[in-house]
This record gives sequence, C-alpha cells and structure tokens, in this order.
Amino acid sequence: MGKYVGSSCRLCRREGEKLNLKGTRCGTHRCAVERRSYAPGQHGSGKRVKLSNYGIQLREKQKVKRIYGLVERQFKNYFLMATEKKGVTGSMLLQFLERRLDNVIYQLGFCSSRRQARQLVGHGFVFVNDHRVDIPSFLVKTNDEIFIRFKKKGQKTVQDNIEACKERKVPTWLEVDHNHFKANVKRLPEREDIGYPVNEQLIVELYSR
Ligand code: SF4
Repeated sequence: MGKYVGSSCRLCRREGEKLNLKGTRCGTHRCAVERRSYAPGQHGSGKRVKLSNYGIQLREKQKVKRIYGLVERQFKNYFLMATEKKGVTGSMLLQFLERRLDNVIYQLGFCSSRRQARQLVGHGFVFVNDHRVDIPSFLVKTNDEIFIRFKKKGQKTVQDNIEACKERKVPTWLEVDHNHFKANVKRLPEREDIGYPVNEQLIVELYSR
C-alpha cells in the first residue's frame, strides 16, 4: 500500500484520539479531534459499532503506525526485527520505533511534528557522529552525538520550533543542548519512556494470528 497523502487530522479522528501529527496546531482549539470527536466519513457520526478482538488489535496497530508515519511494510519489518531480538517483542518493537532518527529529532524538540523532523533529516541537515545522515529510519544507538547544521534560513525555523515545543519534555534517554543544536543519546529507550498510551501486546497478538 502506498504512502498516505490525505489529511493528518482524519487519521486522528479515525483512531478517536490525538496522535499529534500536526505539531503546534495539535495543542490548540483548532484540533479536529476536539471539534469533531467522531470518525470521519459519511457514517462517522452514526452509532459506534462494537469492535471485535481483531478490530481492537488492528486499531492499536494502526494508531502506532500512524504516530510514526509508517506504511504497513515498514511497520511489519520493525515487528519482524523485534521478534529476532532478545526480550519482550512488544517492548522491542516500540524501542525500534523510538530509535528512528526522525522520531529522535522530534523528541528533542527541534521540530514540532515527526513529519517535519523527517523533512529536516531528508534535506541533509542532521549529522550523527560527524557524518551527514539523511535517512529518517536511521536507528540511533547509545552515545551517538547528534548535530543540526543548516543555512541561515533553516536556523530561524528550528529556533521557532524549539520555542514552540519548550513545554514538551525531552525523554530522559536523550540529552539536548538547544543553544548549540546538538544532542546525545544517553541510553536506549525503555518501555517506560514511551510517551503515549499504547497496548503493544495487542499488536503482537495481531501479527501472531
Ligand atoms: Fe490530530 Fe493534531 Fe489534527 Fe488534532 S490537530 S486531529 S492532534 S493532527
């Protein structure tokens, strides 16, 4: 299935919760979930149908997939990687997702959304251990040093983002110096570091069917 190019807010409304896909707008009264708290589409405002077990598992998977902006094939690959790792598969899956470079740049508060972070990485402004990395799916590891280097115009945008996101807490597995646009990966993320409600076991059950 191809990349989704429709409205981000529609995805949140489909999942029935805020997925924070649009950056600063998500915290305002303009958020579509707050204004129209029903599913999108012709029958969205009708009576909610009770979901089957499969439906509940599918919705949880779709929610996480959408938070990180992935397509099914990418998401499934992370699941397969997680099954090959020692440890709890669900936690490993979340760890892989959190370690993505675009997610890290977002979590550090340099961008107001993961989509924006993906652009910053894709345009070659992000360096890891002094090497330019323009692959959003790059997985960071412990002790990686991350820098953002840009032309004058880009600096203003990132400074504005830092200002707009200063209320958002940087996870404890990361350390950031906003003044010098650099950061450090102190350790790998743990299950407790995941900053949104998710039942990863449902995703494991879905793929284990
Ligand atoms: Fe989702 Fe943000 Fe749109 Fe609200 S504003 S519906 S949280 S993307």
